[in-house]
This record gives sequence, structure tokens and C-alpha cells, in this order.
Amino acid sequence: MTTLVRGGHRARYRVVLLGGGYVTLHAYAGLMRHAGRAVRAGDVQVVVISTDDAHSFHGFTGEVLAGLLPYDRTRTPLVDAMPHAHVVLGRATAIDAEHRVVRYVLADDESDPRPGSPSDTGYERVLDYDALVVGTGGREPATTVPGLAEHGFTLRAPGDIAVLTDRVREAAAHRGLRRHTVVVAGGGMAGVEMAAAVADLGGARVRVELVHSGDAILPELRDDQPRLARRADQELRRLGVRVRLGVRLASVTEDHAYLSDGTSLPASTVIATIGQRPVQVPGLDAHRDPRGRLVTRPDLSVVDGVWAAGDAACVVHPTSGEPVPANALWAIKGGEHVGRNLARTFRGRPTKPFAYRGLGQAASFGVGRSISELYGIPFTGWVAWVLRLTFFLRFMPSRRKAGQVVADFARHAAHGRSTPVPEPAEVAVAGLATARTA
Ligand SMILES: Cc1cc2nc3c(=O)[nH]c(=O)nc-3n(C[C@H](O)[C@H](O)[C@H](O)COP(=O)(O)OP(=O)(O)OC[C@H]3O[C@@H](n4cnc5c(N)ncnc54)[C@H](O)[C@@H]3O)c2cc1C
Repeated sequence: MTTLVRGGHRARYRVVLLGGGYVTLHAYAGLMRHAGRAVRAGDVQVVVISTDDAHSFHGFTGEVLAGLLPYDRTRTPLVDAMPHAHVVLGRATAIDAEHRVVRYVLADDESDPRPGSPSDTGYERVLDYDALVVGTGGREPATTVPGLAEHGFTLRAPGDIAVLTDRVREAAAHRGLRRHTVVVAGGGMAGVEMAAAVADLGGARVRVELVHSGDAILPELRDDQPRLARRADQELRRLGVRVRLGVRLASVTEDHAYLSDGTSLPASTVIATIGQRPVQVPGLDAHRDPRGRLVTRPDLSVVDGVWAAGDAACVVHPTSGEPVPANALWAIKGGEHVGRNLARTFRGRPTKPFAYRGLGQAASFGVGRSISELYGIPFTGWVAWVLRLTFFLRFMPSRRKAGQVVADFARHAAHGRSTPVPEPAEVAVAGLATARTA
């Protein structure tokens, strides 16, 4: 068994946080706010097991793709964000709630297996816990579309966004006679923002096709906020994004996207935001919903000693009784609540039910061009853009990076994009040599 000790003694109480996303960061913050003294004194030990060594602030993905912010702004090393935690770079492989142990494999052992590596079962290590928080998030179901995993892009695995950003920049910088086509699959918030960002960056050199299976994009907004949904339609038209409704991405090859209606699009890049599946760590199978999410109790525990929130969890809204949406706001608030309840548990106090009711949603189509809904009130244009930015800055894990984002936007206002589209000579276009242009 792996023993993590501080000063020669295992802490009285060990909290293990799985994942390095919003849930983990905010569970840690909640814990530090309500039991920081115990953590600093070593009475409570916090261990984070994450496949990524940095937190990804997904909300600014569109700005990164559009060249408005450098990729680095969205990444905060976990050791900086959680200085009192012991961060282990590895993948959780199983949960045994009965014995309160979690199994995991170190990233080093996975990438460079060495015979005789110290472990209990092959490369698997075992860590005991008093409390475990599952914040492993979700991933695009890439394997459900043939060819997508090999030839397309999804945006949640470590490094995905950096690779995609380079690819889009190459396409935007390419000065051939024919335009590159970027196909974005999925007409939810993420897909709409990605399509807008690529079109914004690529301008006339890149054609963007947004493929959506429903009869209108942004279904989650259209019923409650039809004016905002219509504004999104207008923004996509302004940016030249072609929207194809009622069709699904059926398969992807190196240079084409094939659609469910039998048509195909020549495509140098395919980006899929086709909904997501929770990342499941085996164990606790009796406590999952049909989508594989861990069903939480009102206080966000799953079973005694195990807690869950964010995209990996099915958390019920306190008033509507429906599962809360899978987005950063709910992951943040769920994580905070778990941290607070953990602190109550140490003190022997009863836990509290999750009572957060929501705030709103937002999407951006470029600087000064957003749609936002705050407590049911719709906003567009600059007001919506400032509201969204303020919310994002508030929840960025690093104050320093938040300050840099403000400086980036100020620079952008004064001089144009902070990350200019490179000239063709500056980029390696070899990667696009086999890609067709439309
Ligand atoms: C491109 C994009 C744009 C988005 N834009 C917005 C937006 O504008 N507003 C908004 O509210 N939401 C947005 N979202 C959604 C939002 O990012 C997610 O809802 C949120 O990240 C969920 O938080 P989480 O903590 O549950 O998971 P994540 O933040 O995804 O974190 C999961 C963590 O678990 C780690 N992990 C996975 N498997 C394991 C394992 N087996 N062992 C250990 N670690 C593991 C991952 O590496 C990661 O660190 C966007 C998502 C994407 C992809």
C-alpha cells in the first residue's frame, strides 16, 4: 500500500480528490476556507490524483482558438492552485468504497513502464482515504463516431486545445487558392463558440461548417431565451459560419467529414463537441444513472466517504428536481459545497444539502459580442460580454492569470489580436499537406 506521510506520520484524516478540474479546485478551496487550519497543521492531508498536472479553464477556449488569448492563460499548474495539497500525476483506476481505498497508476509508469516498478498489482498503486471526491469530469464520446478519435479533435483531454489551436492557426495562415474547411459537430454552447472562434480567426481563408442534429442550434437556450438564441444565429451568419441542421457527424477520415444524410464535406479539421460522457472510475456501479454518472445524495455524497460533483456526477437541482447542467458553474458550486461538507464532517457536524439554484449562462462571438442570461434576464453585446468576462475572471484559479487576461484584452483593444495569426513562412504547413481544401 502506498503511504503518503508528512513528518513521518500519516495525517489523522486523508481527503483524496480525483481529477484536476473545477470540482477538485473548488472542493480544495471550500476545504481550506472552512478547515484550512487543520490542513496547514497536517491533521488533514489533501491528496490530488489527476491525469493532468494543470487546471484547464475551458471557458476561454474560444478566445484561445480565435487568437485573442494565449493558450497558457487557460492553464494553471495544480501545485500552484492547491499549495497545501500533495499532487500525484496519475490516473485513478478503481474505487473500493467498502475498504476506503482508491487504485491508481502513475503517469510515469503508464508512459514508460519499467519491469519491477514498485506497485501492488502490476503498475497499480493503492491509497487509502477517509474521504474521496470524484471530480473526473467528462469526455466527448469520440469512439462512437468512426474515425473521429484518429482524425478529429475533441477538447477535453490534456493538450487537445493546444494541438487544435496550432492546427487552426496553420489553416488560417495558409495562403493557397482554395479555402480550408473546418467542420464543427455539435450545436450546443461549446460547438457554437468554437465555430465562431475559428471563423473569427480564419476570416475569408477558412470556411466553417457547423453540423447539428437538432432543428436549431443552442436547444438549451432557445425555449427560455429565444431572443438570445436568435442573436447567436445572427452572429454565426455575420461570421460566415454555415449551419447544417438535422444531420449528425457519421464518420471522419483524414480529409473528409461524412454526415448522416449521406453527404460529405471536405474537411482539413473536424472538431467534435457532441455531448459528453462521464469519465468513470470503476467501482460504485450501483450508484450510477443510465449515462454512467454517479448519483449523489442531497449533500453530494454518493456513499459514506465518497462525494461527487461536476460532469462526472448526476446532481439534482434543489427546486426543479432535474439534473443540473454539465457546465463549469455547477462543477464549481458543487465542488465548493463538497469542501464545506467535508469540513463539517471533520468537526462532527451534520452535512448540509446542496441548495445552489443557479446563475445563468453565456456564450461569446468575439470581443464585445456575447449573449448572457443572468437570473433569467437576457443581455447582448458589450454588456453581455463584460458580464461573462467578470464571471470568468472571478472564477479563474489564478489571480495573476486573471490579471494577465485583462491586460491581454486591453492590448487587444489597442493593437489587435494578442496572438497574431502567423505568416505562412512561420508555420509548418506540412501537417496540412494531405488535407483537402474546399
Ligand atoms: C471547449 C469547452 C468549452 C467550455 N466552455 C464552457 C463555458 O463557457 N462555460 C461553462 O460553464 N462551461 C464550459 N464548459 C464545460 C466545463 O468546462 C465543464 O462542465 C467543467 O470542466 C466540468 O468540471 P469538472 O471538474 O467536472 O471536470 P473537468 O474540469 O473536465 O476536470 C476533470 C479532471 O479529471 C481529470 N481526470 C479524468 N479522468 C481521470 C482519472 N481516471 N483519474 C484522475 N484524473 C482524471 C482530468 O484530467 C481533469 O483534470 C466547456 C467545456 C469545453 C470542453
